[in-house]
Amino acid sequence: MADSPANTYAVLLPLPLAGCYDYAGEDVAAGDFVVVPLGSREQVGVVWGPGTGEVALARLKYVIGRLDVPPLPEICRRFIDRVAAYTLAPPGAVLRMAMSVSAALEPTREISAWRLASNPPGGAKLTASRKRVLDVLADGPPRPTGELAREAGVGTGVIKAMAEAGLIAAVSLPQRLPFALPDGDHAGPLLSADQRKAADALIARSSGVTLLDGVTGSGKTEVYFEAVAAALRAGKQALVLLPEIALTGQWLERFEQRFGARPAEWHSDLSSVERRTAWRAIANGQARVVVGARSALFLPYPDLGLIVVDEEHEQAYKQEDGVSYQARDMAVLRGHLASIPVILVSATPSLETLQNVSAGRYTTLHLPDRHAGAALPKVAAIDLRRDRPARQRWLSPALVSALELTLGAGEQALLFLNRRGYAPLTLCRACGHRLNCPNCTAWLVEHRLTGRLQCHHCGYQARLPETCSQCGAAGSFAACGPGVERLAEEAAALFPAARMATLTSDTLGGPRAVSEMIDRIARHEVDLLIGTQIVAKGHHFPMLTLVGVVDADLGLAGGDLRAAERTYQLLHQVAGRAGRAERPGQVLLQTYDPDHPVMRAMVSDDRDGLIAYELAERRTHAMPPFGRLAALILSSHDQERLDQIARALARVAPSGPGISVLGPAPAPMAMLRGRHRRRFLLKCRRDIAPQPMIRDWLAKVKLPGVVRLQVDIDPYSFL
Ligand code: ADP
Ligand code: ZN
Repeated sequence: MADSPANTYAVLLPLPLAGCYDYAGEDVAAGDFVVVPLGSREQVGVVWGPGTGEVALARLKYVIGRLDVPPLPEICRRFIDRVAAYTLAPPGAVLRMAMSVSAALEPTREISAWRLASNPPGGAKLTASRKRVLDVLADGPPRPTGELAREAGVGTGVIKAMAEAGLIAAVSLPQRLPFALPDGDHAGPLLSADQRKAADALIARSSGVTLLDGVTGSGKTEVYFEAVAAALRAGKQALVLLPEIALTGQWLERFEQRFGARPAEWHSDLSSVERRTAWRAIANGQARVVVGARSALFLPYPDLGLIVVDEEHEQAYKQEDGVSYQARDMAVLRGHLASIPVILVSATPSLETLQNVSAGRYTTLHLPDRHAGAALPKVAAIDLRRDRPARQRWLSPALVSALELTLGAGEQALLFLNRRGYAPLTLCRACGHRLNCPNCTAWLVEHRLTGRLQCHHCGYQARLPETCSQCGAAGSFAACGPGVERLAEEAAALFPAARMATLTSDTLGGPRAVSEMIDRIARHEVDLLIGTQIVAKGHHFPMLTLVGVVDADLGLAGGDLRAAERTYQLLHQVAGRAGRAERPGQVLLQTYDPDHPVMRAMVSDDRDGLIAYELAERRTHAMPPFGRLAALILSSHDQERLDQIARALARVAPSGPGISVLGPAPAPMAMLRGRHRRRFLLKCRRDIAPQPMIRDWLAKVKLPGVVRLQVDIDPYSFL
């Protein structure tokens, strides 16, 4: 029996539970990180507020202790509640994103890590696993044992043995890497008149959302850096979200030039030590500027004064698994809760954002011209129905001659094909059997460099079989269609003297290698570059004058809601790589449908025309941004139970004016990682909130443990 006058507190745990649990305690306050008993374990959670009183004080367990970290600010707690309410995710699952580094919360202790030995003994045995350990250490900071073992894919025993053999040496890591302070008064470049005007307008706004809309190369980054500088001068923290954090090498360099120091980084490629350091520095206000992926939004900033969402149209901002949320939209919410400005940046803004501009909810600033008079590239379509590539070839004669001219002039060219591997489909010539993934509704993609067939959805890998499992024919498999590897083969045969490089997310080992490759390209050590969308993003290659898009129609095939919008954004972004410096650029789009609105908009540089067309289409069909969508995805290994539950949900589906429910239907990806999948799509008018409806709906059917449910508000993927 407790004899002290304790209070009760609601504590939110970073677990997918329905809500807070009450605990008794003394001397704790809302926002404190506390350790509490949960069943037989101890768990770290956050004091959310006064207890609910549902359980009598005498029966409550006590808070065990308070952690020595700054409390989670009130604004962050409100944000977590709002994100949970909007996405229908358990608040604890959202909290987990805000405290994703449990190590950061633990009391400070020495962390020891391994580095390469400075004088490794000669003649030590180097097995493949030992080599991998050395490779990992050669390419990055010292790492603690567990992390090193995981990254190198070896057991911890290997690491111990290597230490004994003197191949690696222990170091103790500093607890707090000093975060240099970016300097808001550090001199920036001289802005052009347009840039200055936009920058001044950004600085003048103390809240609200602004779209910074400018063609690629117009200096949007330099302009929003001015807003970051203003936030720093005002003593505030600033957050910049980037969609593809592995590609930020050039961005970080520019930031450092502009502010004299690096920002704190937050993304999945950080080591646990870097993570801990960054989290603490952000929480105690030491880190003034944070650049990160979408999850950086949930960090415990005590004093956030600005959020920038660069490339706001990027689909990478939508998180699909776990808590599914759109980071751009949540950034707007975070900014609104704190009454701070949010800047959305893009050369091809999303229709959602443009609609918010025209409804007067967001303001917009334009940067109409490329910096320093660089011209926008000329775009032309190559009609593949007339200008045909040879059989089993993918480059049309027109594109080949353009490549000849460009390479002959000593300039750089890029061939863009958004498909990894050698061929997207392998089939048996004898019976037509297609090689499918055993776990997913998907074809296996041949990767010749690794000699494997791969599923791009679940990671399944296999060797190409000798004989067909259906008809028994031997050596009958044929590759269908091109991937970048196959294209590289074709290009190498056409231009044997050109220095070539292929750039995809999977062929280069990690962000460091990507960034090295990008630097090599920028230095013109490569003549002909072949790549997937990883090359489309934000790079500045001064000598690149020709972009050939091998299959401009690729993204239109699936036909989902945003197919046209997305294809345009991607093509525009790839096209923007051409002619960024003095030499004019040229873009050639290979297409079977040159009259498609997307191709026409590309060729005549008529973005507004395409937007008007798309908005009209969406309005007609009451699709976003004019209507709302929410998806329910049910999945299970047990198909029978799955269909039973899907039918039960269908019987009690919401209905009413302005509301419709499609499904249950097998998802286009009817099987993923061995689980069967069924989808519902709820569509409603923009003035109806889908969340309460879905909550009521789901309350009517009890889900068995074997059936998993994912709710996706504002879905971007319909697979
Ligand atoms: P965007 O983000 O709109 O694509 P960037 O900010 O990347 O454009 O600018 C394109 C290039 O022009 C970059 O290399 C950048 O450093 C340069 N640049 C833009 N504005 C200026 C300026 N005012 N002074 C010097 N260089 C500039
Ligand atoms: Zn698969």
